[in-house]
Amino acid sequence: MEGLKKKNLLGMDVDEFLSELQPYGIKKFRARQIAEWIYQKGVHDFSDMTNLPKALRGELDDRYVLTPVTEAKKLESSDGHTTKFLFCFEDGTSVETVLMRQPYGNSICVSTQAGCNMGCAFCASTLHGSTRDLSTGEIIAQALAVNDYLRAEGGRVDHIVVMGSGEPMLNYDNVIHFLHIAHEEYALGISYRNMTVSTSGIIPGIHRLAEENIPITLSISLHAPEDELRSELMPVNRKYPLPELIRAGKAYGDKTKRRVTYEYILIDEVNDTPRHAAELAELLRGQLASVNLIPINPVTERDFRRPSTDRIEAFRRALEDSHISVTVRKEMGADINAACGQLRNRYLERA
Ligand code: SAH
Repeated sequence: MEGLKKKNLLGMDVDEFLSELQPYGIKKFRARQIAEWIYQKGVHDFSDMTNLPKALRGELDDRYVLTPVTEAKKLESSDGHTTKFLFCFEDGTSVETVLMRQPYGNSICVSTQAGCNMGCAFCASTLHGSTRDLSTGEIIAQALAVNDYLRAEGGRVDHIVVMGSGEPMLNYDNVIHFLHIAHEEYALGISYRNMTVSTSGIIPGIHRLAEENIPITLSISLHAPEDELRSELMPVNRKYPLPELIRAGKAYGDKTKRRVTYEYILIDEVNDTPRHAAELAELLRGQLASVNLIPINPVTERDFRRPSTDRIEAFRRALEDSHISVTVRKEMGADINAACGQLRNRYLERA
């Protein structure tokens, strides 16, 4: 096979293995064994798949690879709870993946695109370089690499949050395929209830996800309670304005019976006044929803500041008093720049 580029098997499910490996006459149980080695046991080498016939292992090795990510950088937060990885793919593209050790398990935040085109004013992912969709294999490779890392401490990935760089709804097929594989028992065995997909508000994507009939948590990045401000902060709002977005969120909750989370970054004197809190409460009244307040991670390239603790608390209380379920995001990994895209930007700037 000298000279021929070997095909990457990462990103295929059992049915895809079956059709891809048809020339070798493999049966479903074999395809499943292969999947278990790759996704569950994290084996990188066909020769280590000891329950496969030796000849098959040789054939696989001749024609296929399991292309992992390479770790360009790894940062540990001082409290030991957060680890941030900068992973590189074969073409040199890099993305960030974050591991958060939560009281309820290990949660990873995966990226779905390298860079991002959404142009949100407060976000570092949008600042640099070209954007491309990640393949299913590249998304799952992030989870496998973190699993390799956790294996050493006897842990594994328990929760998946699709909230790294990129807009998942614009890479829908690869993202949903990734989540399906992650859910399979032969792969990561993660329940859909332990998965969250976050969107900047691509309404057709929200409807599509609702139709999948799987109980994934939907998270909508809201960040402003009225159209004018939201359009300034998030250009996507011009295409998919607030009232329709809120209706789509409500429909998602009604269909899936899952509580929709609205992410709301608090930016000092931009969207954090009592008037904003009242408008936000009004917008979400009667919906199966909760608000996650995120004191902004200031991005050096942008002039947005984090509000004082008093202002954050006043905003939270105003929502609570209006009977809106609300949490303030616990800050994790600020000392390692866990805000979206910040590590990658540093890396790109040096390159
Ligand atoms: N495109 C998707 C998912 C990636 S962004 C989305 O918009 O939801 C993930 C989350 O990080 C979003 O809620 C986004 O608004 C938030 N975020 C981006 N920049 C941030 C910053 N500087 N501080 C805090 N949160 C930020």
